[in-house]
Amino acid sequence: MQTILYIFFFLLGLVLASFLNALMYRLNKKYKYPEILTKPSHCEKCKKELKWYELIPILSYILTKGRCSKCKSKIDIYYPISELLLGISIFLLYYTHSAWYTYPILLILFSLTYFDIYYKAIPQIPTLVFVGLSFLYLIVNALISGEIVLNALPSGLIVIVGISLILVVMYGFKNFKEGFGIGDFLILLSLSMFLNTRDFWLMFWISIFTAVVISIVGFVLKKYNLKTALPLLPFFTIAYIVTVTYGAVILKYLGLTVAIL
Ligand SMILES: [Zn+2]
Repeated sequence: MQTILYIFFFLLGLVLASFLNALMYRLNKKYKYPEILTKPSHCEKCKKELKWYELIPILSYILTKGRCSKCKSKIDIYYPISELLLGISIFLLYYTHSAWYTYPILLILFSLTYFDIYYKAIPQIPTLVFVGLSFLYLIVNALISGEIVLNALPSGLIVIVGISLILVVMYGFKNFKEGFGIGDFLILLSLSMFLNTRDFWLMFWISIFTAVVISIVGFVLKKYNLKTALPLLPFFTIAYIVTVTYGAVILKYLGLTVAIL
């Protein structure tokens, strides 16, 4: 029974990923309701409607060798990879008995990641809604428990002020928005309210560390240059999932290592 549930949550992640990716694409193309939900999926290039088997997450990519069956235009590798990652993430949240609110947070981060990768911008309204929800979460928690818990909010503010100062010093006030967009700050602010201080710092360092590693790899492979703006949201999202699922294990391991050293 348990195994069936594990498979179910993994498959749920795959389907949700493919649905959310399509929805974000359509939102950006300014589709109207109800077309945004009802219009059959089609190839971006030749507009051919996709057959049922071309809608199966991951498998369709393998079956069609990553190309449209009519015009042979390439399907971006982001689709199958993001589907697989969301499947694994939802499975891990369930497997590690993570709190209920980690699921909607993951889905919000996943959706915004699509924008960050394809359009190099995080849409304002959903980001502000996310910040609003995190405030609401703190308020409801305070009302229920009778005491005000800020979680990692002070740390979140320290990170935002600290990075802003570094960027201002490095790039000057006029250009400081370029590297770290305002959207990235707001997402960090939100996450700081949902995470405790220890987990927030772990998440922050995991995302910075992986972003730096990827930048170096991209640099060595000559895919990036000094002016490449790396989207940060994918790193926040992956770091968030790693932290809420295996953060305690990682911290325990790090603690032991530090103790040995
Ligand atoms: Zn096509």
